[in-house]
Amino acid sequence: LRSRRISGELGTISEGGGGGSRIMVYVRLRPMAKKEKEAGSRSCVRIVNRREVYLTELTSDTDYLRLKRLRGRHFRFDASFPESTSQQDVYATTAADLVEGVLQGRNGSVFCYGATGAGKTYTMLGTVEKPGVMVLAIKDLFSKIRQRSYDGNHLVHLSYLEVYNETVRDLLSPGRPLVLREDKQGIMAAGLTQYRAYSTDEVMALLQQGNQNRTTEPTRVNETSSRSHAILQVVAEVGKLSLIDLAGSERALATDQRSQRSLEGANINRSLLALSSCINALVEGKKHIPYRNSKLTQLLKDSLGGPCNTVMIANISPSNLSFGETQNTLHWADRAKEIRTKACAENGEEALPVPETETDQAKLLLELQRE
Ligand code: ADP
Ligand code: MG
Repeated sequence: LRSRRISGELGTISEGGGGGSRIMVYVRLRPMAKKEKEAGSRSCVRIVNRREVYLTELTSDTDYLRLKRLRGRHFRFDASFPESTSQQDVYATTAADLVEGVLQGRNGSVFCYGATGAGKTYTMLGTVEKPGVMVLAIKDLFSKIRQRSYDGNHLVHLSYLEVYNETVRDLLSPGRPLVLREDKQGIMAAGLTQYRAYSTDEVMALLQQGNQNRTTEPTRVNETSSRSHAILQVVAEVGKLSLIDLAGSERALATDQRSQRSLEGANINRSLLALSSCINALVEGKKHIPYRNSKLTQLLKDSLGGPCNTVMIANISPSNLSFGETQNTLHWADRAKEIRTKACAENGEEALPVPETETDQAKLLLELQRE
């Protein structure tokens, strides 16, 4: 790799000012996987007009007909991407505007949310032949900077880190966990490396290498399940873009409607829940935003609460075998969309309580999912 490590000391994450959050919510349906086909699964999802998502459980042939005729439960998002949508198309619709914003000094963040295997990493990282949002965004950033003939001082720095079980690790330079420190400038991950890359190929290689350093672990649901959140931070001179490949949502969801005890026993992903609570608190205009509840939200404080553009991409599988997870993901995304509408509305609705403990957060998340 030609990438040069230009700062071995501190990766500073500065704090943003005021300003509102506008969350754009998208859904991406991935193609049916070979394994799913072999298991005899049928598609229980249909996307129409690049906006509406129809979902049916497919417990009988009647269900199948209902789906074909577009009857039953459906959701509508800022855009919904069917199986055939290209990486470029997803990037252009979801993140391209954010890249433009970063060059004008507005921070941006893109989150991929969904169960393990739903297509988050494919959407974010992609493959060498079909690079995803992270790589396309940086490519676009490079070319925009060149077009505007900015001088060489307009540098683009990358850092790639992981939050796993509330431990922060540098994915580009694995080693001991990083400590988060707060000073006047904001929250920083002490020791986080920042790289300067000169070409898109390099960026892809760097990110692939980083992704291999991500933590995975076996679960009951799948062979391996990533409980780690991967955060790529791209700092151009005036703004910062955060691209986040979230941990699989199934662990939190797998706790389902059972007792309190099973909620605790399921080892819920604290950062994922804290993210939900912060988003709720932010858009409801609360004074106290519970960033401190998790490492992920601490790290993303300025990307969430500053003058920032936020995009959520919910990833789903078409298979009826994943119906439950898909339903939960669509509910989460639907809720995120409603929150935005509420934030824009004149008459503020009753705010949800700000959860102070993990158990409260878990309860809140379940509430949101049931809605
Ligand atoms: P996640 O990160 O959500 O766990 P992945 O992104 O690893 O899921 O996707 C699971 C599998 O499905 C991978 O083999 C990936 O290449 C494939 N896949 C996901 N989305 C798409 C897509 N839009 N087109 C083609 N293959 C996809
Ligand atoms: Mg993944």
